[in-house]
Amino acid sequence: MATETVAVIGAGAAGLVTARELDRAGFDVTVFEQSGQPGGVWVYSPDTEDDQPGAPPVFSSLYDSLRTNLPRDLMPYTDYTFDSAGGGGDGWPRYPHHTAVLAYLRNFAADFGIARRVEQTSGEVFKVNPGSLLTALKRLERAGSLRSEWRQTENSRRAKYYELTAAGHRQLEAESSEWKRRAAAVQRLLQTEA
Ligand SMILES: Cc1cc2nc3c(=O)[nH]c(=O)nc-3n(C[C@H](O)[C@H](O)[C@H](O)COP(=O)(O)OP(=O)(O)OC[C@H]3O[C@@H](n4cnc5c(N)ncnc54)[C@H](O)[C@@H]3O)c2cc1C
Repeated sequence: MATETVAVIGAGAAGLVTARELDRAGFDVTVFEQSGQPGGVWVYSPDTEDDQPGAPPVFSSLYDSLRTNLPRDLMPYTDYTFDSAGGGGDGWPRYPHHTAVLAYLRNFAADFGIARRVEQTSGEVFKVNPGSLLTALKRLERAGSLRSEWRQTENSRRAKYYELTAAGHRQLEAESSEWKRRAAAVQRLLQTEA
């Protein structure tokens, strides 16, 4: 009998455990997640701190120093505790920092084989979560591949403009050639298969 396929939308706490239960029940599960990574609201982005008017919305509403508002013994899934017997740490405080909750959820996704079932939503081909995009831009800026400056837009709003540095251009060129090389190899393979 063919295995039924099921889609779960969102890899937050609810989506992850739903996927695990469906997997246990024998379904072929794929979890579609717009950010491409498990954790949902617990995936922190420093961009929530800036709150720049006109900036794209960020999915997470956590702030950097946030700790849970429930004690860790009340928060876990029933069979996967917040200590080392489950996906947590024995030394974690009773009200852990948000990074601990994310680690717990990622451990859950890894331990039950759900992480490999998480796919980035591709309905709008290469749609990128604004929070992930800003984090990536900041990372590239720190690495010296991008520079940015605040400027006035045509309709008098302040917006941040990014441009590639010389090092960024070199990196883009190297990665584009590598991508083209790989894509051509896959294309040749598909033609052989056909
Ligand atoms: C600031 C804050 C503090 C909190 N503190 C606690 C706490 O201390 N203890 C506690 O138990 N709970 C707390 N919560 C509640 C928290 O919401 C839950 O713990 C839990 O993480 C919710 O999980 P979820 O899967 O329902 O939703 P989310 O974590 O919001 O996950 C939903 C996921 O679905 C994805 N998604 C949405 N739409 C789409 C789409 N169309 N296509 C693809 N992907 C999509 C999102 O990107 C996201 O990853 C807190 C919440 C907030 C905001």
